[in-house]
Amino acid sequence: MNTTTPVTRSTAPPLLIPKTLKGQRALVTGANSGIGRAVAIALGEAGADVAVNYVTGDQAANDVVAAIRAQGASAEAYRADVSSEEQVATMFREVIARFGTLDILVNNAGLQRDCAFPAMTLEQWHTVLNVNLTGQFLCAREAVREFLRRGIVPDVSCAAGKIICMSSVHQEIAWAGHANYATSKGGIKLLMESLAQEMAPHRIRVNAIAPGAIRTPINTSAWNTPEAYKSLMTLVPYGRIGEPEDIARAAVWLASDLSDYVVGTTLFVDGGMTLYPGFATGG
Ligand code: NAD
Repeated sequence: MNTTTPVTRSTAPPLLIPKTLKGQRALVTGANSGIGRAVAIALGEAGADVAVNYVTGDQAANDVVAAIRAQGASAEAYRADVSSEEQVATMFREVIARFGTLDILVNNAGLQRDCAFPAMTLEQWHTVLNVNLTGQFLCAREAVREFLRRGIVPDVSCAAGKIICMSSVHQEIAWAGHANYATSKGGIKLLMESLAQEMAPHRIRVNAIAPGAIRTPINTSAWNTPEAYKSLMTLVPYGRIGEPEDIARAAVWLASDLSDYVVGTTLFVDGGMTLYPGFATGG
């Protein structure tokens, strides 16, 4: 296995998305960068109309909207901090007024405030928990209220609604120096599973995606030099970094009726990172 693959090269297949989401309306949080951006564009390519949430970066959000519209779907940008109850409620009101209703929520917004544990400030702790975990709670609650109000529309989807929570391999793998982040992702796992259990009788499907190492701005230092990339590859049996489109394909499938019986599952999209590659040679 060549572990010195140039960092600019990707062997991820091109996106070829069938129109499985035609007539559906989606909201993607943190959709003007990285994974959220790719998911929003892929949902649009699959035929959904897409609300593009962001908190900073008007131009980047407008670019995502333009990319979705260029594929023939409707799109609008909505500025809101997902950790603010008031801003989330306003955003959902505006999205539902604009698109009529909502069928899909992708709870993607997230951030890191890494710090050795003894030095971690309460602010670093709260910032990560408020955005990564409370933000998913607030958005999921608004989405569920709309799904319950509207119910199933068989011509659109056999489910009353779908929620995809962006988790991480760190809902499973402990991460020294990132206790706040790993805690938020562990919390997402049980938030997602509890919500899935409670909402399944209403035919609302809640699932999660746990990405491994994906090439986005959140983790640039892990892949932007040949040395960092080589070191990262010791953790990835599949031998390449993940691209945002790898996650986008999984999100389209989880949002569509093709995954209709998938309820309360975390789909790991990680090139085998959770196979604990350190044990590949016997441990
Ligand atoms: P990114 O930094 O490119 O994107 C994060 C997005 O979240 C940005 O659009 C940012 O503006 C937005 N955001 C941050 N705070 C927000 C707030 N308060 N309100 C609304 N939006 C906010 O990083 P990414 O890698 O694309 O991360 C997306 C998600 O994927 C995160 O939840 C992250 O934890 C998760 N994830 C990423 C990786 C990876 O390797 N990149 C791995 C596992 C999980």
